[in-house]
Amino acid sequence: MRCNLAILIGMALHIAVVGGGWYGCHIAAELLARGHDVRLFEQHGRLFHEASGNNQFRLHLGFHYPRHAPTRLQSRDGFSRFLAAYPTLSQEVAENFYAVATGDSRLDSASYHLVMQGSGLDLAEACPEASGLRGVDAVWRTDERVLLLDRARAHFSAGLAEYVQFGARVDARQAGNHVLVGGRRFDLLVDASWGHLTRPPISCIFEPTLLLYYAGPVGHPAITLVDGPLCSIYPTDQPGLFTLSSVAHTPLGCCDTAAAARAIRDGTDAATIGRHRVLMEAQISRYLPDFSERFRYLGPQLAIKTKPVGPDDDRAARVFRMGRVIAVMSGKVDTVFHAADRVLDEVAALTGVPQRAHV
Ligand SMILES: Cc1cc2nc3c(=O)[nH]c(=O)nc-3n(C[C@H](O)[C@H](O)[C@H](O)COP(=O)(O)OP(=O)(O)OC[C@H]3O[C@@H](n4cnc5c(N)ncnc54)[C@H](O)[C@@H]3O)c2cc1C
Repeated sequence: MRCNLAILIGMALHIAVVGGGWYGCHIAAELLARGHDVRLFEQHGRLFHEASGNNQFRLHLGFHYPRHAPTRLQSRDGFSRFLAAYPTLSQEVAENFYAVATGDSRLDSASYHLVMQGSGLDLAEACPEASGLRGVDAVWRTDERVLLLDRARAHFSAGLAEYVQFGARVDARQAGNHVLVGGRRFDLLVDASWGHLTRPPISCIFEPTLLLYYAGPVGHPAITLVDGPLCSIYPTDQPGLFTLSSVAHTPLGCCDTAAAARAIRDGTDAATIGRHRVLMEAQISRYLPDFSERFRYLGPQLAIKTKPVGPDDDRAARVFRMGRVIAVMSGKVDTVFHAADRVLDEVAALTGVPQRAHV
C-alpha cells in the first residue's frame, strides 16, 4: 500500500531520477511510495538497457567479496531484502558451487571460510567430484540465486509507466534551491546513471566489459572460482543459457571517463572478442576440463562497469549529496537497498520528514 506521508504533511518534493536501471527504478518506486512527485529519465527506449540488462545476473549473498566487508554485508542483507521486496524476480540455482583455486587464489580455503563465517555466511562443504572441478582446494554449495531479467524489466515497465520519459538523455545544472534537469526545474535530482551524468566524488574508473554467452546443459552447476583474477560460469533466466565471466579477461579497458569507456565498448570488434574468448575459455578449462565439450559459444555481452579504485574489490553502494543533487554510486544489484536507504535519509534531512522506519 502506498504511504503518502509526504503529501499528507505538504512535504512532497518534485524529484528527477536519471537512469532506468535497477538503481533508478527501485529508488524511483521508493520515492513514489512516499508520495513524492517523481519523473524518471532514461536515454534509451526501454528500461534495463545498460548494465542492469547486461551482467552476470547473480543475486549475490556476499561470497564474492572476501576482501571487502562492507560489500559483503550490504549484499548479505540486500539478498534477504530482495527476496522480500521482489519475490518473483529471482530464482534458485539448483547446484551453485564456490571453489578456492589451488595456487591461483589470493586466500587459502581456511581463511576464505573463516571470513565468510565471521560475516554470518554459511557455506556447506561439497566434494570436488560433485562439482566436476579440478585444481581446487575446497568446494562449497551456496544459496545465491539468479536474477530474472525479463521479469524485472516487465515489473518496472508496468509499475513506472506513467512516470518514465524514454529517449531523454538529460543534462543537469544546479541553480539555487533547485536543479534543472533537461531544462526542467526540480527540487532534487537523484542521479542513478552509474556515474555517467555526475561523477561520484570518489576515485573511480569506467570499465568496458565483455562477458560471453554459452549454450550448455540445462541444470549444469554454477561455478565460481575465488578469490582473485579468476572466472565463473553462471546460469541466466533462460534454461541452458549461461554467461562466462573472468576477472582477468572481462575488462576491455580502464577509462577515466564514461565517454572513453563507451567509445571502447562501441568499437569492440570481432578480433578483440575472439582474443578474449580464447583466454577466457582456456582459463575456465583449467578448472572444468570438459568445458569446451559441454558449452557452445553463442555471442558476446558488452557493458560498462563503474568501479572504485583500490585493491579490495570494493563494490559497496554509496550515496553522496551535493546541494540538490544526490549521486548514487551503484554496487551490485542487491546493494540497491542500502543506496535507497541513504537516498531516503537525504530526503528526510532536506524535508525534515522521516522517510523510513529505522531499525
Ligand atoms: C560485466 C558485469 C557483470 C556484473 N555482474 C553482476 C552480477 O552478477 N550481479 C550483480 O548484482 N551485479 C552485477 N553487476 C553490477 C550490476 O550490473 C550493477 O550493480 C547494476 O546494473 C547497476 O545498476 P544502475 O541502475 O546503477 O546502472 P545501469 O543499469 O547502467 O543504469 C543506468 C542508466 O542510466 C541511463 N543514463 C545514463 N546517463 C543518462 C543521461 N544523461 N540521461 C538519461 N539516462 C542516462 C543509462 O541509459 C542506464 O539505463 C555486473 C556489472 C557488469 C558490467
